[in-house]
Amino acid sequence: MIGIVVVSHSHALATAAVALATEMLHNQPIRIEVAAGLDEHTLGTDAVAVADAIANADSGDGALVLMDLGSAVLSAELALELLDSPHRVRLCSAPFVEGLIAASVAAAGGADLDEAADEAENALAGKQTHLHGPATTPSDPAGARIDTYQSEKAATGVFVIMNHHGLHARPAARLVAEVRALPATVRLRNLTTGAGPASGTSLSRIAALGGLPGHEIEVVATGSDADAAVGRVLALAARRFDETPSTSAAIQDSSDRCASTGRESNAGHTPADQAANAGCTPTGLGGGPFPASAGIGIGPIWRIEHSELVVPEHPSGPPEVERELLDTAIAAVRADIERTRAHAGAEAEIFEAHLLLLEDDELIGAVQQGIDTAGSAPAVWARVLESAAAELDRLTDDYQRARAADLRAIRDQVLAAMLGHSTEMISRAGILVAADLTPAQVAGLDRDLVTGIVLAQGSPTSHSTILARSRGIPALVGAGPQVLTVPEGTVVALDGGTGRLALDPGAATLAEFTGLANWHREQRRAAEAEADKPAITRDGTTIHIAANIGGDLDALEAVGNGADLAGLVRTEFLFLGRDDAPSTDEQEQVYRAIAEAFGGRRVVLRTLDVGGDKPLPYIEQPIEANPFLGVRGIRLALARPELLRDQLTAICRVAADHPVSVMFPMVTQLEELLQARRILDEVAPAGVTPEVGIMVEVPAAAAKTASFADHVDFFSIGTNDLTQYALAAERGNEALSTLADPLDPGVLRLIAMVCEAAGSARVAVCGEAAADPVAAALLLGLGVHELSVAPPAIPLIKAAVRNLDLTECRSAAARAMQCASATEVRAIST
Ligand code: PEP
Ligand code: MG
Repeated sequence: MIGIVVVSHSHALATAAVALATEMLHNQPIRIEVAAGLDEHTLGTDAVAVADAIANADSGDGALVLMDLGSAVLSAELALELLDSPHRVRLCSAPFVEGLIAASVAAAGGADLDEAADEAENALAGKQTHLHGPATTPSDPAGARIDTYQSEKAATGVFVIMNHHGLHARPAARLVAEVRALPATVRLRNLTTGAGPASGTSLSRIAALGGLPGHEIEVVATGSDADAAVGRVLALAARRFDETPSTSAAIQDSSDRCASTGRESNAGHTPADQAANAGCTPTGLGGGPFPASAGIGIGPIWRIEHSELVVPEHPSGPPEVERELLDTAIAAVRADIERTRAHAGAEAEIFEAHLLLLEDDELIGAVQQGIDTAGSAPAVWARVLESAAAELDRLTDDYQRARAADLRAIRDQVLAAMLGHSTEMISRAGILVAADLTPAQVAGLDRDLVTGIVLAQGSPTSHSTILARSRGIPALVGAGPQVLTVPEGTVVALDGGTGRLALDPGAATLAEFTGLANWHREQRRAAEAEADKPAITRDGTTIHIAANIGGDLDALEAVGNGADLAGLVRTEFLFLGRDDAPSTDEQEQVYRAIAEAFGGRRVVLRTLDVGGDKPLPYIEQPIEANPFLGVRGIRLALARPELLRDQLTAICRVAADHPVSVMFPMVTQLEELLQARRILDEVAPAGVTPEVGIMVEVPAAAAKTASFADHVDFFSIGTNDLTQYALAAERGNEALSTLADPLDPGVLRLIAMVCEAAGSARVAVCGEAAADPVAAALLLGLGVHELSVAPPAIPLIKAAVRNLDLTECRSAAARAMQCASATEVRAIST
């Protein structure tokens, strides 16, 4: 693979451009080297550094050099004279940013030097089309031959662009990666505008198609497997080019979580619940509000009183005095954040990020430089942090964009400290309405006074929102600026689970909300008080309520919420978001911490469940048209046995001292289990025999339970995947959320099969269904022994189980299996 070298006068400019290009690569590794600035802060270029960067980037296939201007070009030319193999280096006259992105995507797709250079040189095409229309679309020799190819037995198809921002850089880059991996030639034409044809391997030419949401794009493929190629492209388009969920999708996520709450609430208090949901009307304020933190909030609006921060432009003294002012303020804010972090529980990481920002050498260095050129510390600080935040605002990824809020939070905290204002949050009773809040402000809210939050801005993925959720404060975000004009004291009622907001509600609506809120509060309070006690049904059967966790912090939360055991540790959290697999020692340390947190209670460690829709950058895998039906779970583990061996070694080391079990995911065939067990036997030291179980997620495995039963100690039914595979309804597809109901009688029958054929092996359920009280009753009726749920759901599920009688559950389960649909099951089960 070719390497890329970025030569610029400015280190900051080069690294920002590389960050932007990397964003387009969807975790495909390529080598990009930077030779920029004389050092991190001084502008300039250095031929020797450029030569070194080229030598590092070139692994034998050559290096493409992108330069900004002037002496960057001269230094790059000089660098060629310093190199042993200058013939493998191409200096490229492409526009710096666009060229870098186009070349990176091409390189990631396996382009050679000429192709990548060509891509980069054409990289302005997308912008030109956008600004001047399709007439400037560059000629595309491959595309221009479209008719010829059609006569050579081409396959064609059409997709409609469903991505929120159209076929912009990230989805286009994903498309190029897909097409480059195909054995066919693929070209595209925008049928809506007439733009194209464009080669499917050219990011610049795809950009020039100007594809907007709703546009129809024709795909024409020729070559050995043209039909399959068109199918792959259409499948990718249907998956919205694997884009990170947009804001609206993220909001949907949050309401999804609430949807299961809705199902739960139907179980216990149907009339009030449904009346409240039906009785509220959206306010229609600016497209929102959007649900952000589930729960009912009622109360008068109050706002944070801001004493206006007047930022002095001129320094109050020499640079040393201004630097001192900055240092003291940063130290004070750091101390504040450390205090808040100590009480933040599982969300402490949010504040880690803030502390890191306060130690960010680049930011602080830029402020110090500004101070040295006679700026006032507060003014320079505000400017530097705002410009860094504005950069994040421009990113396309919602999660990354939401990090701008972190920067602004820190900006304001330090600014307030420099100007002598208090940053302490004084809570008042009622619903806090604000443009946005910092995580520290949310952490500082008094839960007993603040009954809800409505933000004019904000996003469901912001740290403030995450904190509101984990603190149990109902919240809505994105309500629009109009909400800030509603007078203080106006009573509002909100449902953070549905996004409904009633301003100044009438007596009937208020009564509905109040009834619902009281019910929620009472249930939660009573359940929490009993959380540490076992969940024993009315007829005296103890049901173990376990926790599904994804890390050591979750373990503490789970134990605090009364978990009887860890029923599912999703170990992928250790493997994702890094460049190489964690070592055996690293894994042992984390598994041990979890086992210690559970203090002698059983911990079920599921082996790595990645692949398919959760790729790992350090595992090479072919791109799959249907990743959910692909090489995932145990299939991937057996294809890469060294990963499994390391993981089982780490688990066995912990199993020598703690009751930990091993669970294999996505098992379909007995032979898969036997192979995995053989590896376990090989690595387990003498005398260490952890319990072994499998996830039942594939319908065929459910039907073959009897053949697994002699080889396992337990089964754990993953209803999330079992439902998607049984009903052919992808679990993340919003359009199918009603269909993908685990209470479908077809799914219930599969669960019954597992329970009936499990013999002496225990049967647990660890999918989301276990946290739905209606489903939980039926699952126990079908013969399930253990329910494993997210930590916050433990107290409520324990409370629900204590109200059940297993004989009644069995009759209810038998009736449910005779129903025709999940709707019918729910209707007879509430
Ligand atoms: C499941 O499929 O139900 C399950 C618990 O596994 P995951 O959600 O991690 O795929
Ligand atoms: Mg699963």
